[in-house]
Amino acid sequence: MNMDNVARMQAGRSISRPAENPTLRVLSLGAGVQSTTLALMSARGDLPTVDFAVFADTKAEPRKVYEHLAWLETQVPFPIIRASRDGLSLGDAALAIASGAVARGGAPMIPWFTDDPTGMLPRQCSKEYKTRVVQRVIRGKLGLAAGERAPKGITVEQWIGISWDEMQRMKTSELAFIHNRWPLMESGMDRRSCYAWLDDRQYPRPPKSSCIYCPFRDNAAWADMKENEPEDFAGAIAIDRGIRPGFPGMEGAAYVHKSRTPLETADFSSKSDGANLFDEECEGICGI
Ligand code: SF4
Repeated sequence: MNMDNVARMQAGRSISRPAENPTLRVLSLGAGVQSTTLALMSARGDLPTVDFAVFADTKAEPRKVYEHLAWLETQVPFPIIRASRDGLSLGDAALAIASGAVARGGAPMIPWFTDDPTGMLPRQCSKEYKTRVVQRVIRGKLGLAAGERAPKGITVEQWIGISWDEMQRMKTSELAFIHNRWPLMESGMDRRSCYAWLDDRQYPRPPKSSCIYCPFRDNAAWADMKENEPEDFAGAIAIDRGIRPGFPGMEGAAYVHKSRTPLETADFSSKSDGANLFDEECEGICGI
């Protein structure tokens, strides 16, 4: 271990700590690189064993993510609970808002790119389709009804797979009885070290997790999807076409791609500007 790692671990441990005697230890599993690393570290005893993991399913992950999840379920000793928000899937909700079948405010919004004015729509999808889905599962395990306060003494340690390179995405829980913990931060691990950890143990590299139509995907990822995952790409195009009005009465048009052009003709050749587009995802739960 070099000094960089040691310094990172010290800094990481000053901002992420275990909960004291947690009632439950839960992994929020996006099934991407970082949360897969945490799941396997827990399974192998490199970290404590979690009671269960929750995969909040928007029903729109890439095909490869579902395949990877099915594999991961065979590798860990704890249950992986797949759960989704009740009602419309995220993609159907976006189409319903765009067509006016559901009023704006009647379903969570995805932050589509807009051209008049140039900007993005509000971000509500990750909170409502991921964070709160995991919370609902935790509440169910504790026998708590929606909105019910947890009795004193109940603490849930929730692991989130934020790595060192994405520390700006760390966010405390909105619920007092859920204590967010970022074990990769405490280990000084970044995304590259997660890959190295997986490679050393001959695990397959996980695909990047995020909805197929997620506007936070960079050009390299779009180009890869177009070339290698035509069904996922066709699904993203269908959503992109359907959300063009944004919502009834919106000025201008809404797009999935940052260029604010239709996805089917968008130019993916320009390199990413180096920014992590997921920095814009407010919950720190997607893409990991
Ligand atoms: S992956 Fe993207 S579209 Fe899906 S919930 Fe997260 S931010 Fe929203």
